[in-house]
Amino acid sequence: MSETLANLLQENRRFEPPAALADAANVKADAYEEASADRLAFWAKQAQRLDWAREWDQVLDWSNPPFAKWFVGGELNVAYNCLDRHVAAGKGDKVAIHWEGEPGDTRTLTYADLHALTCQAANALTELGVRAGDRVAIYLPMIPEAAVAMLACARIGATHSVVFGGFSADALSGRIQDASAKVVITADGGYRRGKPSGLKTIVDEAVAQCPTIEHVLVVRRTGQDVAWGERDLWWHETVETASTEHEAQPFDAEHPLFILYTSGTTAKPKGILHTTGGYLTQASYTHHAVFDLKPETDVYWCTADIGWVTGHSYIVYGPLSNGATQVMYEGTPDTPHKGRFWDIVDKYGVTILYTAPTLIRTMMKWGDEFPAAANLSSLRVLGSVGEPINPEAWMWYRKNIGHDNTPVVDTWWQTETGAIMISPLPGVTAAKPGSAMRPLPGISADVVDDEGNSVPNGGGGFLVLREPWPSMLRTIWGDDQRFVDTYWSRFQGMYFAGDGAKKDDDGDLWLLGRVDDVMLVSGHNISTTEVESALVSHPSVAEAAVVGATDPTTGQAIVAFTIPRGSVDTEGEAGEALIKELRDHVAKTLGPIAKPRQIMLVAELPKTRSGKIMRRLLRDVAEHRSLGDVTTLQDSTVMDLISDGMKSAKSDDE
Ligand code: ATP
Ligand code: MG
Repeated sequence: MSETLANLLQENRRFEPPAALADAANVKADAYEEASADRLAFWAKQAQRLDWAREWDQVLDWSNPPFAKWFVGGELNVAYNCLDRHVAAGKGDKVAIHWEGEPGDTRTLTYADLHALTCQAANALTELGVRAGDRVAIYLPMIPEAAVAMLACARIGATHSVVFGGFSADALSGRIQDASAKVVITADGGYRRGKPSGLKTIVDEAVAQCPTIEHVLVVRRTGQDVAWGERDLWWHETVETASTEHEAQPFDAEHPLFILYTSGTTAKPKGILHTTGGYLTQASYTHHAVFDLKPETDVYWCTADIGWVTGHSYIVYGPLSNGATQVMYEGTPDTPHKGRFWDIVDKYGVTILYTAPTLIRTMMKWGDEFPAAANLSSLRVLGSVGEPINPEAWMWYRKNIGHDNTPVVDTWWQTETGAIMISPLPGVTAAKPGSAMRPLPGISADVVDDEGNSVPNGGGGFLVLREPWPSMLRTIWGDDQRFVDTYWSRFQGMYFAGDGAKKDDDGDLWLLGRVDDVMLVSGHNISTTEVESALVSHPSVAEAAVVGATDPTTGQAIVAFTIPRGSVDTEGEAGEALIKELRDHVAKTLGPIAKPRQIMLVAELPKTRSGKIMRRLLRDVAEHRSLGDVTTLQDSTVMDLISDGMKSAKSDDE
């Protein structure tokens, strides 16, 4: 049998958990044994973290795969679990959110404050005719009202569909139409890169195409002028004048909680549907286990936007169900200067930080002096999500942000999985830089070959999930068939994630990027991730994206787009010398088969709005094709720069 995916990169570094953290860890090694002895009993136990109005009759109904039901017959209210029960337990005065606006204005919301606002919003939405099962679109900047709007929907059983505040009117109207939303909650604008951006204008344009929308509820954030129409209502006149009393009704464990469209790296976004009991159980448990959250002492900060699943599970539902104190930041990391994030960590004494590789690599590019200027000694756990983290980016993160002694948890999951699936546990795992290590207790992931057979240690292939999990997507909104075809048809009885992965000699898992991006070079399947990681392991490189371009001799040839670190000279001959050095460096690190045919030095890479590299566009450039769909691209001018550079670069074939 031919190899499914080559295993080229070797990594021997390991980092044991600090002893004190391990001793006091929320979750210890026995959790793995407990879960493998009886997976359903394990999840039933984790569900007890929540307050249920009615106990379930059955943990899992998997009689009609792939349509799962978890905690069948159980009833609970998500907002009650995130707010009321903490207030009832005497924690009303505990800070829920330290909010930091981009211009430097701040707000502090306790659990009692958040509860009162959520009750007001629930009353206001009810007054506007929103009922359980209706859909509400949320298009807001990173302000506390975003969390309040989500919790208010959950409280009354309305299904929210949060759309990232950077998306265009077309993207917004497409998502509103797909879900037939009744109400949109937005703001006049928000602050990004030092300026107020307009949201209401975009909503006006979008809603003109959306006959199902009855009301637009507008938070005043920037105070800019906005056009006003009949269906528009100010939040401060509607929500903030409503009663702060609201009794939460329980909903069925399988009641739809939210729809969220995937970030769109590969194709047309899919409306992923999540439900209530299983979702909250796994969001809550994983937040407790993977970040080792101690609600009394930790200050947690997840830098994701509320518009992505990370914001749903690890800003709103996981942390709030656990009674965490967290930081929420409105703006960009370089406003007013490139040390803003580190100033925030310093100011609030952040102990747990959860961010994305794109940010870590950007910080590497900007230089070590920015984190060095702040006091980061409060940090004790660092997390990463969104893309494979290159081993050198992992090392940089640990060294420059984690003062060389904090665990780094590389967490693999997807919009579809709802919560973290594969990750080290900070008090248990001796983590390897760049590896997501093992499936969490209660999760069964595997790597299989073309035929669905488990690959041996040292082998690569397709990442699959063999058993249903509580926070799994229930379907694609309005399209059960697409749900079956997309995720459950490639391998019999398994969920196929779309990602490639390998098992190293110890059986630990390494994510290798999307299988659609795998390159076929002279008969070898080579992952983009391994070549990118080899490039990033060179001291002059901050970030790299690699694609396979059609090649007459090798089938596909490796073309790399590389961002040098800030201080590196790339002019003229220095640039050419660096390119040669990088090609040799990759050949030396991974073997001659992985030597790039061509390396381009670029200033930026095309990314989705969630910061993921969009390789399919680079493939278009490398093959001199016109560009495919660019609607989910963060900055479309980047592509012009790269294409121009590509045309003028002389081919450096040997
Ligand atoms: P679309 O499905 O529309 O193309 P997307 O897959 O980028 O968009 P998300 O659900 O936000 O949308 O991202 C999940 C994907 O992100 C995973 O399938 C994987 O490719 C990547 N990913 C997330 N976390 C990690 C990680 N820790 N290591 C490697 N890859 C990761
Ligand atoms: Mg995806």
